[in-house]
Amino acid sequence: MTTSSGRRASCADCPLPADRRICRMPEGTGPKGCPSIGFGDRYKQVESIYTRPEVREYARQASIQEAACYAGREVVPYVKRPVKPRIQEIVEFAHRMGYERLGLAFCSGLHEEARLATEVFRAQGFDVVSVVCKVGGVPKKSIGVRDDEKINIGSPEAMCNPVGQAMVLNEAGTDFNVVLGLCVGHDALFFKFSEALTTVLAVKDRLLGHNPLAILYTLDSYHPWMRKSSTT
Ligand code: SF4
Repeated sequence: MTTSSGRRASCADCPLPADRRICRMPEGTGPKGCPSIGFGDRYKQVESIYTRPEVREYARQASIQEAACYAGREVVPYVKRPVKPRIQEIVEFAHRMGYERLGLAFCSGLHEEARLATEVFRAQGFDVVSVVCKVGGVPKKSIGVRDDEKINIGSPEAMCNPVGQAMVLNEAGTDFNVVLGLCVGHDALFFKFSEALTTVLAVKDRLLGHNPLAILYTLDSYHPWMRKSSTT
């Protein structure tokens, strides 16, 4: 987004401490290019989207769930104490929304995790429809992948099929979908073709035990090479 000052928004580079930012504090301020400055003009468009009942209720429940993930909020001044793992957050949010049928779109590399997540969701009262990334067993060559571009060169290899996953869950009429470990890019296609809104239980990081932020936590100590322009 280009801001009213003609600069691209770059909240990631914001130099202000959190308690002086206009997006956090009504009396706060923002640097050049701040997308909150002049936001009132844009709010008409945003507001019209939030007036759609389904969007408004979804956003309202998501905000309520956000706060419900912290304990002891009645104590002022409040010292944050989160108490819920993400899977519980998903369960509680889905109950708040009145969802009954959950879709689970998972990676074949996390089949056991998918089984356990299904066990948890069922125990919490949901009807679960799950579908693996390789659904359909469609060969990679059908989308133009050469043999030398496969993981196992010289062997048959099924493509990940996020569009197929979305179609299976769309047909099942899931109320809400959960992604578990889909690859970069496959996840984006799933989001595009899923009819139900989708959240993420976990993202895939093959190297870091599905904790992609570990590379950022160790960027200065062990991974400064990631700051070089070529990472391959
Ligand atoms: S103050 Fe402005 S630039 Fe800084 S984080 Fe908030 S919205 Fe972004």
